[in-house]
Amino acid sequence: MLWLALSAFFLWLALREIYFGFVPRSGFDRPNPSISVGYVLTTLGIAAALAYTPIRYWQFERFLTLIARQLSESPKAYVHCNSFIDSVLDTNVFAAGHADLETGRIVLQHPWCGELMDHLANPKAATPKGIHSVHLLTHETMHIRGEMNEAKTDCQGVQRYARAAKLLGIDDELAQQHGEINYNGTYKQRGAIGGMAGQYFSIDCAPGRALDERLSDSIWR
Ligand SMILES: [Zn+2]
Repeated sequence: MLWLALSAFFLWLALREIYFGFVPRSGFDRPNPSISVGYVLTTLGIAAALAYTPIRYWQFERFLTLIARQLSESPKAYVHCNSFIDSVLDTNVFAAGHADLETGRIVLQHPWCGELMDHLANPKAATPKGIHSVHLLTHETMHIRGEMNEAKTDCQGVQRYARAAKLLGIDDELAQQHGEINYNGTYKQRGAIGGMAGQYFSIDCAPGRALDERLSDSIWR
């Protein structure tokens, strides 16, 4: 919001310069005879630059909301990307994301939406953070389905990784590969680390075990 407010201010400066080229200022008989083109172009350029990132993220939130609704099968799911300031002020500042079952609101903390955006721009050059960003979105979306137990939620996300990645536009083969990397890497490491990370892990999150939902498009099939 801060960037959009600043953008609006610079847009106003540009429009004011143009306006007084046609309408006299109070106390003057005639309009400003020479509008400063350089000033107008500079202020318009600053306004556009300030608005670019918020608008890009707003469009990305709309895209992620469509994906979250398909994954959760809930029309009330919607995704919000926290800015750095949002994240600092968030009551769940230490969580990478959180979801509210009642409202359907999914929040991804800074910089996870950016990580996901970069990942989708070039999934072949995937980084561990990029791969995890898909899992994070999927995990939070599973909460909107009604599951609040973290280990069960994370396992639902693990199994739906490829489904989520494909909905996000990643090709089938890469989606499956990244899903396996996510499960065999980050997910299993959580079990080994234990503690806070361990609450997201279950030994039963494995093919044929209690948390296997036997989905036709699971990464385990
Ligand atoms: Zn969770």
